[in-house]
Amino acid sequence: MDPRKDTWKEADKLEWLSRQKFQRSYADQVLARIEKLKAVGGKLKIQSYGNLSLQGRTELVIDGATLSAEEYKNRYPLYYAEVGDITNGKPNIIVTGGTHGYEESGVYGALEFLEKHAIDYSENFNFIVFPCLSPFAYEVNQRWTHDAWDPNRSFDRSKPYVPEAQLVMDVLDEARKRAGKNFAAAVDLHETPDRDKTMMPPQYQRYGINLTADDILIPNGYYLISGVTNESPEMALKIIEEVRKVTPIAPDPEIHGDKNDKGVVISQGSDPTHQGLNQAYMRTIADNSFTTEIYPEIHPEPRGSSEAIAAQVATIHGMLLGC
Ligand SMILES: [Zn+2]
Repeated sequence: MDPRKDTWKEADKLEWLSRQKFQRSYADQVLARIEKLKAVGGKLKIQSYGNLSLQGRTELVIDGATLSAEEYKNRYPLYYAEVGDITNGKPNIIVTGGTHGYEESGVYGALEFLEKHAIDYSENFNFIVFPCLSPFAYEVNQRWTHDAWDPNRSFDRSKPYVPEAQLVMDVLDEARKRAGKNFAAAVDLHETPDRDKTMMPPQYQRYGINLTADDILIPNGYYLISGVTNESPEMALKIIEEVRKVTPIAPDPEIHGDKNDKGVVISQGSDPTHQGLNQAYMRTIADNSFTTEIYPEIHPEPRGSSEAIAAQVATIHGMLLGC
């Protein structure tokens, strides 16, 4: 999204904010699990990479409460996990969850991978995992930051006002230098829930692009967006093979104008409304990059939620099998 075409002013953002509510707790549901991971020690190291900040704002009024800039900063400390030693020559892998805070299976999938699998896989791989990179959006169960920016349109250096994306790039640019080679693969864990019918139109309308709920396709299953420059086409096939064991693959022949080849969509990366995608940045530092799109409502709750998390974890397994 081109910020120059943005029709939203501060008043529009404040109006949007006034309608948000804290719906879950970053401290209880994410940080508590990260604290436990700190205790694992050994090859698994939890690293701080800063805190979110209110940037220009002095306070945030939400849900009947007022958070000062200091309170906001303290509420959102940021952590990633580094598993293994990225300079030891093994393939280095990136996992990002919660780029969109409301797509919760990405957050829980990244955490579950760290808790149950990362140490075993560290025999053959090293990992950098960001479990929840947009924690304010996670708490209000929304797509955007407090300043109404989409982190998944902000992975380029022209948007310094979106720390959710910029701080991740700081960590990974430095890691790429330290490793002295590209990452072997990167995956960004997303969902396409039914809620996108109401979430997506306003995101486009504010940039003057007319889009209604009818224009939003919700594929009836999982699909994988594979980077157009990926070195290993087999990796995507391995991912689909693993994911198929836990959730159905989207049968739609075409998804957002691109061919859906048995669950794999190759994004050409030329759509101007997709500028600043996490995956586009990952292509600059990783030989293979992926974005998952899981349909969390494919089965009614409670099955849907656990199935979506299983599909995120299966994606990482498949990616490693294809490495
Ligand atoms: Zn998403």
